[in-house]
Amino acid sequence: MSEHTPEDSAQAPLIDIVLPVEESEHVSAWKTAIAEQLGLPEERIVDMRLRKHSIDARQRQIKVQLRIEVGLDQPLPAEPELKPLYDRPTADAKTVLIIGCGPAGMFAALRALELGLKPIILERGKDASARRFDLGPILKKGTVIEDSNYCFGEGGAGTFSDGKLYTRVKKRGPIRDIYETLVAHGAPERILIDAHPHIGSNLLPKVVMAMRQSILEAGGEVHFGTKVNQFILKDRLHSRGKHSRWPRVPQRPYDLGNWPLRPRHLPAASCPKCAPRTKALCGRCTHRAPATSD
Ligand SMILES: Cc1cc2nc3c(=O)[nH]c(=O)nc-3n(C[C@H](O)[C@H](O)[C@H](O)COP(=O)(O)OP(=O)(O)OC[C@H]3O[C@@H](n4cnc5c(N)ncnc54)[C@H](O)[C@@H]3O)c2cc1C
Repeated sequence: MSEHTPEDSAQAPLIDIVLPVEESEHVSAWKTAIAEQLGLPEERIVDMRLRKHSIDARQRQIKVQLRIEVGLDQPLPAEPELKPLYDRPTADAKTVLIIGCGPAGMFAALRALELGLKPIILERGKDASARRFDLGPILKKGTVIEDSNYCFGEGGAGTFSDGKLYTRVKKRGPIRDIYETLVAHGAPERILIDAHPHIGSNLLPKVVMAMRQSILEAGGEVHFGTKVNQFILKDRLHSRGKHSRWPRVPQRPYDLGNWPLRPRHLPAASCPKCAPRTKALCGRCTHRAPATSD
C-alpha cells in the first residue's frame, strides 16, 4: 500500500467551512465560502478536493462541516489510485499462522505480507459466498450451524453487518491506512472523508473477498473449514511443568517462525483417516499424526 497521506500530497491549504445542508453539495457554495474566508477573489480558486465531511444535526438548522483542500492559482496534484500492492515473500520467508479470518486476521495477514512474512490463515467457517447460505437456517428454523453463521466465517462477525466503520480510536493507530486498504479492495472512496464512514452490507462481503484474493495472490494461504482445537507445542519444555501433557501457559515467548504446519494442524481433508468422518482438525481424532521433521 502506498504511504500517501493528504498532508504530504501538496502544500495546498486545508480550509474548514460550515454550510447549511441544502448548500453543502454545491461546489459554487464551497468556492464562495472559501474565498470569503481567505479574503481572496473566487477566480484564484482553481481546484478543490473534499477531505472531511461531517453533519452537525444538533440544531434545528442542520449544517455540514467540510474540510476542503484548495488549489490556489493551480490545480491540485493528481492523487495515486489506491491499489492492493503486496510483494510475494521470499521462498525462505518465515511463516505466520493466523487463527481466524475476521478483520483482525485479514489485516494481520496483509501486514505480514508488508513485512515480508508468509501468512497462513486458518478459519473454522466458510468463505463469504458459501457462508451466506448458512444464514438461512437461523432465520427460517432458528438453528445455528456451529462453524458457519453470522459470527464465524470469512470476514468474521461483521461480514453481513451494515459495514459501519466504527472505532473509538481517533488519534492513535494507522486509521487512514485501514481505510485506504479497504478502498483499494473496493470500498467506496467516500469512507476516506466521511466522519461516520459506511461501506454497506451489499459491498462488504465483496471487499472481504477481495482482501482474501490479495493475500492469496501475494503467496499467503487461507484455509476455510479449519477449526483450531489445540496447540501442540513442539518443545514440551515450554510447558508449565516438564511432564505436563497439555501446557496452558508457555513459560517463554513462543516462536512460530518457520514452524511447519504439522499434519495434526491441517484441515481434516488433508488426513486420509479423518476426512470421511469429521470436518474438525485431525487433532481432535485419535489417530496419531505422522512423524514430522521438527
Ligand atoms: C451482527 C453484527 C454486526 C456488526 N456490525 C458492525 C458494524 O456495522 N461496524 C463495526 O465496526 N462493527 C460491527 N460489528 C463488530 C465487528 O464485527 C467486530 O468488531 C469485528 O468482527 C471483530 O473482528 P475480529 O477479527 O477481532 O473478530 P471476529 O470478527 O469475531 O473474527 C474471528 C474469526 O475467527 C474465527 N475463529 C474463531 N475461533 C476459531 C478457531 N478455533 N479456529 C479457526 N477460526 C476461528 C471465526 O470464525 C471468525 O471468522 C458487528 C458484529 C456483529 C456480530
